[in-house]
Amino acid sequence: MLIEEKSNPLNQSVQYLKSIGPKRAESFRKIGIETIHDLLFYFPSRHLDRTTTLSAAKAYGYLMNGYDGELTIIGKVEDIEKRNFNRKEILKIQFRDATGYFECVWFQGAKYFSNIFNVGDIFAVSGKTSISKYGNLQFTHPDFDRITEDESVSFLNTGKIIPFYRIPKELKVTNLGDLSIRRILKYAVDNYVELLTENLPQSLIETNKLPSIVDAVKNFHFPESKENLTLASKRFKFEEAFYLEVLVALRKQNYKRKLEGYTFGIKTNLVSNFLKTLPFNLTKTQLRALSEIKRDLMQPSPMNRLLQGDVGSGKTIVALIAMLIAVDNGYQSALMVPTEILADQHAKNISKMMKKLYEVHKDREIKVALLIGGQKKSVREQKLESIELQEADIIIGTHALFEEKVNFKKLGLVVVDEQHRFGVAQRARLLAKGKTPHVLVMSATPIPRTLSMTIYGDLDNSIIDEMPKNRIPIKTFLRGDGKLSDIYKFISDKKKDGYQSFIVYPLVEESEKLELKAAETYFKILTEDFLPDLNIGLIHGRMSWQEKEEVMYLFLEKKFDVLVSTTVIEVGIDIPDANIILINDAHRFGLSQLHQLRGRVGRGKKQAYCILVTKDEYALANHKLNLETDYLSPVQLDKYKSAVRLQTMVKYLDGFKVAEIDLKLRGPGDIFGTRQSGFPELKHVDIIHDTEIIINAKKAAFSIIENDPHLEHKSNQIIKNNLLQHYRNNLKYASIA
Ligand code: ADP
Ligand code: MG
Repeated sequence: MLIEEKSNPLNQSVQYLKSIGPKRAESFRKIGIETIHDLLFYFPSRHLDRTTTLSAAKAYGYLMNGYDGELTIIGKVEDIEKRNFNRKEILKIQFRDATGYFECVWFQGAKYFSNIFNVGDIFAVSGKTSISKYGNLQFTHPDFDRITEDESVSFLNTGKIIPFYRIPKELKVTNLGDLSIRRILKYAVDNYVELLTENLPQSLIETNKLPSIVDAVKNFHFPESKENLTLASKRFKFEEAFYLEVLVALRKQNYKRKLEGYTFGIKTNLVSNFLKTLPFNLTKTQLRALSEIKRDLMQPSPMNRLLQGDVGSGKTIVALIAMLIAVDNGYQSALMVPTEILADQHAKNISKMMKKLYEVHKDREIKVALLIGGQKKSVREQKLESIELQEADIIIGTHALFEEKVNFKKLGLVVVDEQHRFGVAQRARLLAKGKTPHVLVMSATPIPRTLSMTIYGDLDNSIIDEMPKNRIPIKTFLRGDGKLSDIYKFISDKKKDGYQSFIVYPLVEESEKLELKAAETYFKILTEDFLPDLNIGLIHGRMSWQEKEEVMYLFLEKKFDVLVSTTVIEVGIDIPDANIILINDAHRFGLSQLHQLRGRVGRGKKQAYCILVTKDEYALANHKLNLETDYLSPVQLDKYKSAVRLQTMVKYLDGFKVAEIDLKLRGPGDIFGTRQSGFPELKHVDIIHDTEIIINAKKAAFSIIENDPHLEHKSNQIIKNNLLQHYRNNLKYASIA
């Protein structure tokens, strides 16, 4: 049955519902809910499983009989007690119900939680319980919901799973509480849910054993059982992942079908000669990535590939070989990196390698050109000319490479290093230059598999997941400020064994003047007071790239034992004998930034050390935080975020593991960078935990788009309509029809 847009009751204003007048309708509108349809999709933020609600006495009995699942007890706050233990505040709250007592304890966030509970309030407390050493029934860091006296009665009588809705301040001002919003939704669901039309093809619903949209909405609000709630949630996760993957598949299709690229082959022995000049053998995964890249280069459609690998895993060499293949075919290659100093370093290293190559490959000298801002006008013009005349084969630079004035004669391959800094728009502009060159993006921030499948799903994916054999794992330590003098002594002692050190300070000051002053102050203190016997260099963000380059060069040449720096050494820099990195105020850095910084050391043959110094007392505390962060509430998480970051660094060296925890801490929304990726925000699906659902959704989406790229088949109209209705904004890079 087709209902006209306007006459469809679901499109009526929420004002038509019982107990919503103009005032409440207006506040709903403020949070984006205008129609009854919108309201039906205002899902509970959580549910309380009343099916396992017990009295205190019963719960005690359960526990004695070995039950160790979660349970809920409803009780009244009887007593609030704060105590100090080992310099930490502990909060203990006594509750009472009709049958007995129970207590809740918090070892963290005592102050925060003590403000939530008042004597006489009633709460439904949920979680795992244990028997304390005094024999009391005890919850540790439980979930809880404040409820009214009325509710506590209805709770005990209904025996159901109770939805809890977020009530933002816009709604609160119209006196909406847990109870009234639940009533409104119950009314809406009872009277309107059947009118919803399905937005997934029937075949997908069947093969994936999903409930219909009507059943799913019903059960997401007022589940008949836990299983039904899980199924409803699964359906919305699947639906969300499916439409995301449809967009990804369309984007990929768009790229492959529409654009024409160059078909390369192996023309001479240039590449094999190059391999002979390397002082090492490529690792197995480097070889695998290389063969995947080669296969792409030899096909007529342009390559669009993501090369992932932890810092130091050897991505550059793989990219360089790809660049040489393009050169071997008579084309130019461009390497785009995020900073000038990195561009400069790459240019130096690659030129050196090309000189070595020329010694064994006399037919042809491969020319490297560096193009970055701040070059003298005459130099710049000469470079531009060499690019235009194809005197330069490999061109290295920052995004300055893709300015109007740069005209590549025959650009065959673009390599983008550290791609997380480049948005889709930038990528699009890069592709707009002439015909479509092959594109290889490299990322040193490993992306969890499900994430790379989704937001980078339009790129083919190669992973280097092993380190060159000669590496010794870096040792990471976490220390308080008080240990700094010991650390300086360590740095001085190690100097005698040929060690060089980085000493990194966070950027505290926003203004240029203050930054300069801070950097110079650190430098002065270190040279005069703490490390008087060592040669110390200074590098900071206010230097020109030429000045930075000069300092880096002197450091590489061992003219300095220590390099004091702000974050400019973050990416790419390669100094083999720098094997100690001391990071001050490490709690101020992000996790991936810390991991990148650590990646600056451990590239040589010696044991490397990463020393994190912090004032964060939680990070330094003896007890270890649960790095999976499962039991931390959002409030706690906020408070312990930097502690979790620092302890993660100590515990894990593997960039993929670090990235996974980083993702959890930041929340997928953040990393997803909706605007950057051009994909919709995810509300239901959890990038980390819902791997299987995402994989199934992806398979389904890709196979549908492969068979019906313009969504013309009758059975796919439901998908097309839904895309046009709900995902119009996301179709920019993925046109249909
Ligand atoms: P990243 O992946 O961080 O860009 P690089 O490409 O800079 O890593 O490589 C780090 C260092 O390891 C470089 O000095 C490089 O020459 C060296 N390297 C690369 N591949 C190998 C290998 N297979 N065996 C030994 N050393 C290697
Ligand atoms: Mg690199």
